[in-house]
Amino acid sequence: MKTARSESLFERSKRSIPGGVNSPVRAFRSVGGVPRFIRRGDGSRIVDEDGNSYIDYVGSWGPLLLGHRFPDVIEALRGVLETGTSFGAPTEGEVELAELIREAVPSMEMTRLVNSGTEATMSALRAARGFTGRDLTIKFEGCYHGHVDSLLVKAGSGMATLAITDTVGVPAAFAATTIALPFNSISAVEEAFARHGHQIAAVIIEPIAGNMGCVPPLAGYLQALRDITARHGALLIFDEVMTGFRVAFGGAQSIHGIRPDLSTFGKVIGGGLPIAAYGGRADIMSRIAPAGPIYQAGTLSGNPMAVAAGLAMLRHLKAHPEIYAQLEARAAALCANPPAGVTVNRAGSMFTLFFTGGPVTGWDTAKESDTARYAKFFHWMLEHGVYLAPSQFEAAFLSASHSEEDIAHTAGAMRAFFEQT
Ligand SMILES: *Cc1c(COP(=O)(O)O)cnc(C)c1O
Repeated sequence: MKTARSESLFERSKRSIPGGVNSPVRAFRSVGGVPRFIRRGDGSRIVDEDGNSYIDYVGSWGPLLLGHRFPDVIEALRGVLETGTSFGAPTEGEVELAELIREAVPSMEMTRLVNSGTEATMSALRAARGFTGRDLTIKFEGCYHGHVDSLLVKAGSGMATLAITDTVGVPAAFAATTIALPFNSISAVEEAFARHGHQIAAVIIEPIAGNMGCVPPLAGYLQALRDITARHGALLIFDEVMTGFRVAFGGAQSIHGIRPDLSTFGKVIGGGLPIAAYGGRADIMSRIAPAGPIYQAGTLSGNPMAVAAGLAMLRHLKAHPEIYAQLEARAAALCANPPAGVTVNRAGSMFTLFFTGGPVTGWDTAKESDTARYAKFFHWMLEHGVYLAPSQFEAAFLSASHSEEDIAHTAGAMRAFFEQT
């Protein structure tokens, strides 16, 4: 496989961009080798600068539920180019997007649009603190909520990949507002509330974790969080930046039948453009400026390009609910019969092959994985035209554009790896 152009671009990039990339996991640090510079994408496929074609299971890390260059999204973007790309004034599309989100996710009584998942969780946390008048937050080990100062404690995604538990640059006083507990443990949450209950503003969780690899909640866990937070006057925040509109049109909260107080969305709601949202109970969201005293703002918030792409995406999903059944069936086929020593966790179209005997129910068990073997697997798949996340601790994403042939090719390459190693 030729990589000359990616190699030279990476060398050049490292001179002007830290580590050569604009987000850490892209650099292939934990698997080694040269990151592929991508030239274009179509449907389930991406092509790199050396002309190599791959079946893509990264999907821009989640947003591309309908694949690359989905026609409705491209068409919507063309329309915006005719009218203007940013006004810094309200537009009809923003209202339509907020209404569509509420229709899909009834707990989202009111929505504020922002530009990234990080901004959404940061703002949701501020709303929770402003509303409750309390400062502490409970989060879970291995969950990632963007690079918000106080949430970078025992975080997943790139922090897990690079084995960083606390980052330089976060004041100790900010980190001290966070209580990090093991995912899927109800007793840990009960103990924390017993000690600090009157100071805890919110519990924030990925209701189906995706950033330590895919780790679904155990039966009763999310309901227990709902009950405990309600009992102590703390808010429950579902970070559905990854799961929203992916695991179901109504997100993880619709699957598990839980109504959080606040939620965050991102990724799929932008159809591949930078947008995210936070929202929830109207009595809480009515406290956000200018309606209330909790300040949050954004020059490009509700950007017309991003809103149009997101609307096109969500309208298509609403009109084609069968997409979720197809994703479920194809992802299940791909995840069937893992070999000994491999644990497959899956929630709809997001899944992870953990190189450990398992079960994997949280960060303690996820980190038992043989990451060196994952690196071999990753490179084997890449050589066979399959682009997976360059880290054991990420989810793979199937899109509606992945065909039966794509699945068969991928499953064949996996089988060959496990037969030979
Ligand atoms: C990706 C992600 C974020 C951060 O979103 P960005 O747009 O990368 O800032 C937050 N929470 C979860 C659950 C995510 O998967």
